[in-house]
Amino acid sequence: MLTIKEAFLTENIYYQRAEKITVEKLVLHSVGVGQPNAAVFLKNWNKPTYTRACVHAFIDANNGVVYQTMPWDWRAPHAGGSWLNNNAIGVELCESSYIKYIGQTDRFNIINHAAALAHAKVTYMSAVELFAYLCLRFNLNPLEDIYSHNEAHDDHGLASDHSDPEHYWDQLGTGYTMDGFRKDVANAMNGEVTVTVTEQKKEEKEMYPTLKRGARGKDVMLLQKLLEATGYPCGKAGIDGDFGAGTEAAVEKFQIEYSLTPDKIVGPATWTALVNAPNKAGDAKLQTELTAVRTSADMLCARVEEAVKIFRTGNGNE
Ligand SMILES: [Zn+2]
Repeated sequence: MLTIKEAFLTENIYYQRAEKITVEKLVLHSVGVGQPNAAVFLKNWNKPTYTRACVHAFIDANNGVVYQTMPWDWRAPHAGGSWLNNNAIGVELCESSYIKYIGQTDRFNIINHAAALAHAKVTYMSAVELFAYLCLRFNLNPLEDIYSHNEAHDDHGLASDHSDPEHYWDQLGTGYTMDGFRKDVANAMNGEVTVTVTEQKKEEKEMYPTLKRGARGKDVMLLQKLLEATGYPCGKAGIDGDFGAGTEAAVEKFQIEYSLTPDKIVGPATWTALVNAPNKAGDAKLQTELTAVRTSADMLCARVEEAVKIFRTGNGNE
């Protein structure tokens, strides 16, 4: 059974452009760095400054979960400026942490062969199911409409000169080939393709505590700091960790000005708007404070969002 978790790169310019494509091909990539955690890539690519590429999904090598980074029919350039950028879904396999690349080449040393093979197998199996699902969804022929990045360049002249993912499979001695992959996808399509999709919005609801008048504590303090830094002072009491009349008035004013339902209750929509709101004061000190508050808002999310925890402990793709 395949698990797809929506983890859209909402800060990435290609996500923000939201350009529709007609899906005619699927392209399989691998990341080219020994980093099995999809969350690391999600973090690094979810920035306005990350403009060199974008893909539709990463497959985590530890658990095989597909992290969907773009809606499937939105444009994400992953094939070096070619036709495929406008007509194909790109999916990245995360690679094992038990390999170490040699300089800027596509060669690597293997640190633990059995463990690296296990990582490769996890992503392969999920990729077969995912591509079966995508072929069914977009009415594609698995034997003709699936390329690797390597094939897109070498066989079709349609992509930048990369060797993924075959360089990874070959050096590990997995026995996997693209022909074999296409056949496995075709076989999977004849069986039952079961997919569980976790929508991003549902997760966001769990990220923030719902706060209203009478609430007390650290979360209220965080809310008040956010309100103050965004230009909505919480009245005479200030930042006291107590959701009283002043805080309630600030919340209502914020909700009205941000076209939210002015119910004076801080739920997911208000939290999200607050965390993303610009700092109206604009001076350097407040900017620093707001950044600090944003970080603690992230920490708040981390309590229930496993992926965020991985972001903070991961490394390797900088
Ligand atoms: Zn590639």
